Amino acid sequence: MAEDKNNSSPLTADIQAVDADHHMHPFTNTGALNKKGARVITKAEGVYIWDSEGNKILDGMAGLWCVNMGYGRKELVEAANEQMQVLPYYNTFFQTTHTPAAELAKEIASVTPGDLNHIFFANSGSEAVDTILRMVRQYWAIKGKPYRNIIISRENAYHGSTIGGTSLGGMSGMHKQGAPLVPNIERIRQPYWYGEAGDMSEEEFGLACAKALEEKILAVGPDNVAAFIGEPIQGAGGVIVPPANYWAEIQKICNKYDILLAADEVICGFGRTGNWFGSETLGIKPDIMSMAKGLSSGYLPIAAVAVGDRIANAFIEHDEDFNHGFTYSGHPVAAAVAIANIRLMKQENIVSYVAEDIGPYFQQQLRETLADHPLVGHIEGTGLVAGIALVKDKENKELFPDDLDIGLICRDHCFENGLIMRAVGIRMVLSPPLVISREEVDQLCAKALTCFDLTLKSVS
Ligand SMILES: *Cc1c(COP(=O)(O)O)cnc(C)c1O
Repeated sequence: MAEDKNNSSPLTADIQAVDADHHMHPFTNTGALNKKGARVITKAEGVYIWDSEGNKILDGMAGLWCVNMGYGRKELVEAANEQMQVLPYYNTFFQTTHTPAAELAKEIASVTPGDLNHIFFANSGSEAVDTILRMVRQYWAIKGKPYRNIIISRENAYHGSTIGGTSLGGMSGMHKQGAPLVPNIERIRQPYWYGEAGDMSEEEFGLACAKALEEKILAVGPDNVAAFIGEPIQGAGGVIVPPANYWAEIQKICNKYDILLAADEVICGFGRTGNWFGSETLGIKPDIMSMAKGLSSGYLPIAAVAVGDRIANAFIEHDEDFNHGFTYSGHPVAAAVAIANIRLMKQENIVSYVAEDIGPYFQQQLRETLADHPLVGHIEGTGLVAGIALVKDKENKELFPDDLDIGLICRDHCFENGLIMRAVGIRMVLSPPLVISREEVDQLCAKALTCFDLTLKSVS
């Protein structure tokens, strides 16, 4: 590997050229990227990644919100190696199972809240969300009410990028492409207090946003609604933490109209918020929930849907196949890695480390270091996830003009200075590996401060 920091190494140039010739990137303007050349990441350890120029970079995003137990965990590598040699693949379709799938289902059920003890496997968050879409509609069909098929979700939600996930999500940039979307999906406003509440208090705004669900239910007819789906804390939408009263109200409304509640835990699951699941942190009792990213710490693709008794029993008692699944549902190697990952999380008490130690420390240090910065309008987050709104004038929340993409400017400074922080519009988001130490949190905050200063300089 090239270690020369100053010159573009031969490896960088070679891989960029091959990449430009043949690789189409997700969520990317591939033409523009091809001209510029992609960054080449070569290795990783702990909370750091290295690029092909030899730069060591603190990964404030745990990859894409997923490398919860950090890079270089030998336990996960060994689990994959052993399972590959014994049984690299077998399916779970035709009345068969295998040890990793069965054991992982039990392992997941040991950490899910309530009666979410029945596990359906998929390979990505998008597939898990699609599974929820099909499952909740089929649930009502089994119950003799096939007309109950409308699913309500929220603006600026992210539920993946398959056609099901795109349709359930609330990202306008995605809706414009590859339409038409899946029918019978309705959306309500997001509970983004800092950005959209006007003069309302958090409490008033939380109530108003929950009320929007009831209004939508009444508008489309309660008897036509299958489910409501939401991320406990919106992740890809910019890390938006709802007002404290929001989810309790949503829960009440779902109960009142007998509407299934689905939690998309793909980011919030597996310790991110200081509990095994974000539903516990936010006080939600979902009927069904999707999980993916942290399930294997991203070492192999695997996802799951945890199904509560109400829905699971309907399927179990109904004498018909559920015609849904994936070739790799419960893939033995991915499942073995996920089992090892959950056991490692338990051994290292990582969830209480996030809840009691590093989560509060991270939130406090972020605010201490950045809250007074002229660019910082607002910081929100809990556990090891945070979103920071960048504004032109923090007193009156004045934003920078749209054509000045403040988030991207800041993100580029971060990368140049050895920190991965992602930009979502005007919001900078952080979601570091859960194994991050206090010293590494200090480093992260110091780097962020430097980069915010540089960002301020480049726009003044
Ligand atoms: C990332 C994400 C998804 C999609 O997961 P993929 O593995 O990329 O398909 C779905 N829901 C939420 C909340 C996510 O953050």
